[in-house]
Amino acid sequence: MSAPDGRNHASTKPLVLPAEPLADPGKELPLVFAAPRRGKPAKHWIDLSTEERVQAVKDLGLPAFRAQQISKHFFERFETDPTTWSDLPKAAREQVAERFFPELVTPMSEQRCDGDTTVKTLWRLHDGSLVESVLMRYGVKRGLPDDQQSHVRSTLCISSQAGCGMACPFCATGQGGLQRNMSTGEIVAQVMKAEQVLSSGELPGGAGQVNNIVFMGMGEPLANYKAVMGAVRAISDPTPDGLGMSKRGITVSTVGLVPRIEQLTAEGLPITLAISLHAPDDELRDELVPINTRYKVDEVLDAAWDYAKTTKRRVSIEYIMIKDINDQPERAALLAKRLKARGDWGWVHVNLIPLNPTPGSKWTASRKSDEQAFVKTLENWGIPVTVRDTRGQEIDGACGQLAATLK
Ligand code: SF4
Repeated sequence: MSAPDGRNHASTKPLVLPAEPLADPGKELPLVFAAPRRGKPAKHWIDLSTEERVQAVKDLGLPAFRAQQISKHFFERFETDPTTWSDLPKAAREQVAERFFPELVTPMSEQRCDGDTTVKTLWRLHDGSLVESVLMRYGVKRGLPDDQQSHVRSTLCISSQAGCGMACPFCATGQGGLQRNMSTGEIVAQVMKAEQVLSSGELPGGAGQVNNIVFMGMGEPLANYKAVMGAVRAISDPTPDGLGMSKRGITVSTVGLVPRIEQLTAEGLPITLAISLHAPDDELRDELVPINTRYKVDEVLDAAWDYAKTTKRRVSIEYIMIKDINDQPERAALLAKRLKARGDWGWVHVNLIPLNPTPGSKWTASRKSDEQAFVKTLENWGIPVTVRDTRGQEIDGACGQLAATLK
């Protein structure tokens, strides 16, 4: 097939499959969908709906208006210690703290890099599970005082499960298996902590707020659908019922759980869907992204296309570039062909991610020349493409590197 510019980019060369199996035969991890049931975290104010919050304060013998007062402290001012809220009756403060504000995530360690504009935090959950989040500031002008900084943006990458059951062989998180689903409160608690850090002004670029949230930390977000949707609501509900962030600033990624993508489409929310595709052909994707043995590339792309059509939000195709595994121009052409086959109305964009090798991994990032050839091929086909910068690489804080280990 010829590209739109008339040249024949798809060479007749067959697609190259890896010379060796990607996971050791007989040692592949199983796909795990049902999270092991472990002790649930305590219910937090975040976990309650607006109506439930009103009922909850009434149950404590407080008048209904206290619910909004509490929400203002928490969601508007990022205050998390009710014992310091002097506009609450003294007798009620301890009760409110104990009943609704358990510590859901406890910082265990923090690593910073990129001149302190990337911060990775390891959190311990109530049962000892470990998860991570990464806060990244963009647009900070070195040498400029904080009060003269403009265009500084902050993106937070959060976890939605402790571990992950999707078993992608190149991913540090996947190799540890799934420990459990996180609750809505635990997911949003990562955002709250980032808001506190940013509003304090301690990071370069001055005081700010979280502008974008990506569900690309540990876990497959759509495998923990209910809690993730609860988190999207708590993050985007207008203040004081939620954090009031624009839904357009939220990205949910998935390896391709087709029924859940369809469910998300039906919600009609203007959030961005990111598909971790990583290979355009089923032969390779079956190995690289084992969920492909259930939902094939075409099914995933059809569901993604439907999502874009319904929500009018451009879908992002995430593609990790692994040297000599999935980075051949033939694969770029096949990817372009499959995306183009679904129409040319700007529904999709490809984001290439140089692999961040994890310790002991046999794979590494593509050669720059192969990466450039891949980009060129997609561009020749008229597919919008970007190469993600690998922020956080030196602290293992980039995609597929969140292993949640104590160092
Ligand atoms: S790449 Fe994503 S879906 Fe695959 S194992 Fe890692 S965290 Fe899970």
